[in-house]
Amino acid sequence: MVHTELRELRKEYDDVVAVDDVSLSLDDGEFLVLLGPSGCGKSTTLRMIAGLEDATSGEIAVDDEVVNEQSPAERDFALVFQQVALYPHMSVFDNISSPLRAAGVDKPTVKERVESTAELLDISELLERDPGELSGGQQQRVAIGRALVREPKAFLLDEPFSKLDQKLRIQLQKELKQLQEEMNITTVFVTHDQEEAMVLADRIAVMDAGELQQIDTPENIYRKPRNRFVADFIGNPTMNFFEVEAGDGTLHVDGVAYESADVPGSADIISMAARPEDILVEPAETDDDRLVATVDLVEMRGSTAYFICQLDGRELTILKEDNAAVTEGDRLALDFDFDAVNFFDETGERVERAPEAEA
Ligand code: ADP
Repeated sequence: MVHTELRELRKEYDDVVAVDDVSLSLDDGEFLVLLGPSGCGKSTTLRMIAGLEDATSGEIAVDDEVVNEQSPAERDFALVFQQVALYPHMSVFDNISSPLRAAGVDKPTVKERVESTAELLDISELLERDPGELSGGQQQRVAIGRALVREPKAFLLDEPFSKLDQKLRIQLQKELKQLQEEMNITTVFVTHDQEEAMVLADRIAVMDAGELQQIDTPENIYRKPRNRFVADFIGNPTMNFFEVEAGDGTLHVDGVAYESADVPGSADIISMAARPEDILVEPAETDDDRLVATVDLVEMRGSTAYFICQLDGRELTILKEDNAAVTEGDRLALDFDFDAVNFFDETGERVERAPEAEA
């Protein structure tokens, strides 16, 4: 049972607050992804958990024991980084087995553990090769194997796949997810790539400027972003924002009244965020009383397509419905899936709906 907790963990470098009092709790076997823009403090957080960096203040607790003073080896976490560091003159077998041999594990057990790890990672046929004879993806698999072979307490990874090409990255993500579930090993994974985070995580911790913004399931991060930063950061294409005003049971979106809107409990809302799939369109009539946008471009993305539209000098992105016969220059009247959109107050925090309004 490994339960890990960060308690107001903080790191300052001179006048930079790299990690700003981050508190979170990790369940045994959980896959947590630290996600955020470059420089937001993800790596520093991971390095403090690993013991590679001292915390300025706050605690790291493993099964309720504070480990701040323990060395990385004492903490017994496995680490994998973007830069693979294998011993170049040792075979793959010797690379993977090195932590076991260092720990004095007997030869037959070493052989058995290396072989089963290699099988999980689909590198059994590479055990006799040198690292120089492997592709980037194979090298990263070996690094993962070496990290996991000694069955560490937790697995920490910092952008391990970001140097690989897209196809290989997707494959390794899938393999890592399977492996992590099979081993049921508590895992913290750092990335700036939201799609990678969505695929891997049980929960995502979104950070910005050293602060934890939200920690939740991928679905909730996407559907119910806690604030405007998360709403804007998550999703590709990004959210569409509108100014709103609520009163008399009517919602005004960019000044236009939408009677059908189910207005959340608070009158404090000032903005609304709609995902491309939350905007519904119809050909606009000449004197339409809804918001009307003009299609600039129909953007193909493979299985889906988007309308890139202009509305009062700004751009909107709307998911194209299968049967929509829309071309550039068309005028579209906008409606919204008001159960799916999110509302924010003037501090940028999401405003919860009244409970009966929740789907
Ligand atoms: P991320 O992993 O999210 O890209 P980092 O954790 O690497 O971000 O960095 C967070 C902040 O701390 C950045 O502003 C970075 O410049 C700063 N920082 C990181 N390491 C050091 C260091 N060794 N010395 C000074 N500043 C650092």
